[in-house]
Amino acid sequence: MTTYDVVIIGGGIVGASTAYYLRKNGFKGSVVIIEKDMSFRQSCTALSWGGIRRQFSTPENIQMSAFGMALIANLKHEFGAEADIGFKPNGYVVLASDASVSALEENVKLQNALGAGTQLVDAAELGARFPYMNLDGIAAAGIGGKGEGWFDPYQFMNIIRKAAMTQNVDVIKDEVVGISAADTINRVTLATGATLTAGTIVNAAGTGAGAVAAMIGFSLPVSAAKRYACVVDCPAASELLHAAPMMFDVTGLHYRHEGRNFLLGCTPSAEEEPPVQDWEMDYSWFEEKIWPLAAARIPAFEAIKLVSHWVGHYDYNWFDQNGIIGRHPHLPNFYFGNGFSGHGIQHGPATGNALAELICFGEYRTIDLTALGPSRIAAKAPLFEKNIY
Ligand SMILES: Cc1cc2nc3c(=O)[nH]c(=O)nc-3n(C[C@H](O)[C@H](O)[C@H](O)COP(=O)(O)OP(=O)(O)OC[C@H]3O[C@@H](n4cnc5c(N)ncnc54)[C@H](O)[C@@H]3O)c2cc1C
Repeated sequence: MTTYDVVIIGGGIVGASTAYYLRKNGFKGSVVIIEKDMSFRQSCTALSWGGIRRQFSTPENIQMSAFGMALIANLKHEFGAEADIGFKPNGYVVLASDASVSALEENVKLQNALGAGTQLVDAAELGARFPYMNLDGIAAAGIGGKGEGWFDPYQFMNIIRKAAMTQNVDVIKDEVVGISAADTINRVTLATGATLTAGTIVNAAGTGAGAVAAMIGFSLPVSAAKRYACVVDCPAASELLHAAPMMFDVTGLHYRHEGRNFLLGCTPSAEEEPPVQDWEMDYSWFEEKIWPLAAARIPAFEAIKLVSHWVGHYDYNWFDQNGIIGRHPHLPNFYFGNGFSGHGIQHGPATGNALAELICFGEYRTIDLTALGPSRIAAKAPLFEKNIY
């Protein structure tokens, strides 16, 4: 039977980052990533919009984004001159209505206390800066500071995983189908029938995290939530609109440019959550929801053509929509990095580093993520993030 000191289940951004930062923090033991689909075709990471922002309401999320931004800014220094994730520093704008303006003000205050440099602007200034927008129902907005934008998420993961692999991290293509976890020795059973013993296990299984946690009898409220990404052509778009920041509307609508096209999506309400977690497009969601909301906010979007789309699954935390990061409350050798609900690509590196610090030193040294620990689930003490889309 093969033995590894650390077995990481899942090779997306969280698993890859955990492996990378274990080595960066000086971990000398053996490390393996078990990944069931090396094409990553249906992983959250590959299907992500790749956005990064500090406009969050939870201090930990703001700090984790700052960690991701620093990594992106130092990408070539960290991973070599060839490393490129096509970062677009276009920024983010978060709109607020009369009803949500006080929450926006509170969030901006917190963000700026943590160095984010978010500007709070009123509707008049917003109109002057983004004249292509219809500002009906909008009272104010947060305009993000330096470092906000988007990038190629698949490349980001690949660069980090390859960097880990050059430092003696193994990758096995297989599926974890069973875990027996005790105080010190864990055993992992793979779909091919092989068994590994593991000093430590990290659950980095994305939408499969709930199923992996169930293998050790832990009820983790994480599974897939279906989301639609619609790519549209808009011939009437001005150059200013083509250069726009990523926009979060009060209706849940969000958009940004995608080359010369635009990428549109809309966060469903709890009642609107797609009941089936398959990979089929719901064209009525585009026609009856996304398009009308987009045209109402950006009149140029009245005349758009859907040119392509993709369906992605969020690694959704149904309890409080925040990452669940840290050590199992009772099993000291089992760790979680799960449930990011739409913000895991930007928080993946910070999560990997945090888990590596816990494994190497038994404590957080860079960002204290205790508040995001799994104990809050059994304690029924949610930590809600207000800015999720
Ligand atoms: C449409 C969409 C848009 C998004 N936009 C953004 C954004 O703009 N900004 C942002 O920060 N985040 C965004 N996200 C969220 C972000 O992409 C995810 O939170 C993040 O990629 C999660 O990474 P992960 O490594 O945990 O999961 P994944 O990338 O899904 O990786 C988990 C891996 O585990 C493997 N696996 C699962 N179970 C097993 C098993 N039993 N055995 C072996 N392998 C297993 C899977 O095959 C998978 O490859 C978006 C997500 C989607 C779907």
